[in-house]
Amino acid sequence: MGGFRAYVIDKQDGAYSVGVKTLTEADLMDGDVTVRVTYSTVNYKDGLALTGKAPVVRKFPMIPGIDLSGEVTASQSADFRPGDRVVLTGCGAGEVHYGAYAGMARLKSEWLVPLPATLSPAQAMAIGTAGFTAMQCIIALERHGAKPEDGPAVVTGAAGGVGSVAVAVLARLGWQVIASTGRPAEADYLKGLGAAEVIDRSELSGPVKPLARERWAAGVDTVGSTTLANVLSMTKHSGAVAACGLAGGMDLPTSVAPFILRNVALLGVDSVSCPRSLRLEIWRRLARDLDLAKLDAMTSMIGFDDLPATGAAILEGKVKGRIVVEIDA
Ligand code: NDP
Repeated sequence: MGGFRAYVIDKQDGAYSVGVKTLTEADLMDGDVTVRVTYSTVNYKDGLALTGKAPVVRKFPMIPGIDLSGEVTASQSADFRPGDRVVLTGCGAGEVHYGAYAGMARLKSEWLVPLPATLSPAQAMAIGTAGFTAMQCIIALERHGAKPEDGPAVVTGAAGGVGSVAVAVLARLGWQVIASTGRPAEADYLKGLGAAEVIDRSELSGPVKPLARERWAAGVDTVGSTTLANVLSMTKHSGAVAACGLAGGMDLPTSVAPFILRNVALLGVDSVSCPRSLRLEIWRRLARDLDLAKLDAMTSMIGFDDLPATGAAILEGKVKGRIVVEIDA
């Protein structure tokens, strides 16, 4: 049994450490499917785990990395056979179960999704948890009854991973997308993804009024805090906002006014424990509604050794769009 490289996070006597170790399959955790990992990605949460800036990792030692694509090498599950190409997003990988930043992973079959036929393993990781969550937000809005004829949709943190995919998919579905960003230099990038209008995020970070001028019928918010509160106060009557992120903070300094005076709905989105039936629907919708040329335009590639620096960069808001990590470990 050959060895493979893995990032290993440990915490001993309160000291958080990240290093690369050589492991064998015998070191992996229990699961009914073993996968040779070919690609992964860096989400905001991966940045938190790699730097130790928030308690994402809940079991030590841990192999970080919440998303992977790869090829099954052994399976005790009737659902997967050696050679099958699979995708994993979330489900506790990299948090409580050894995750993606290693040459091999052993996982539970119920977490795995067959790689959609139209996507390459690298494209599946260009989507990753961020793109998956963007689509989950859009499905939540649709289930609420939101539709492009109701008015524009705002996307906050638009130049980030969730935001970029949300902009591209909403635009393809016919929404007039208003992209909010703190990086005005990325206006052309966001318009290239399909944004009709780009606004500076400072428009959404000022003092929150209970109700403000109605600007959009729907929203995908990745920022939280004052930004989400302002988005809610500017949402049209009977509109809805899907909240998935906290890049600007975990608090929510709002009032009940948008809910009781404008019938606005706040829809919570958690991708980690997303039920399997919805997980499969999200991947089907991504394969159908995400323009792959736009996905490629928002994606950059890094190597296994670039992970720590990229994890720090995403927390500083310096990563544009999505990152794919080639795992040659
Ligand atoms: P990224 O870092 O790629 O994007 C976040 C974006 O938020 C940044 O690019 C920036 O956009 C904006 N931003 C960052 N800091 C601030 C700030 N202080 N104030 C306002 N805007 C800010 O991360 P992801 O897209 O991967 O994730 C976005 C958020 O969604 C994170 O909080 C993440 O934890 C959460 N998330 C939640 C999931 C769930 O299951 N609920 C799943 C996936 C992600 P810009 O430069 O355009 O202003």
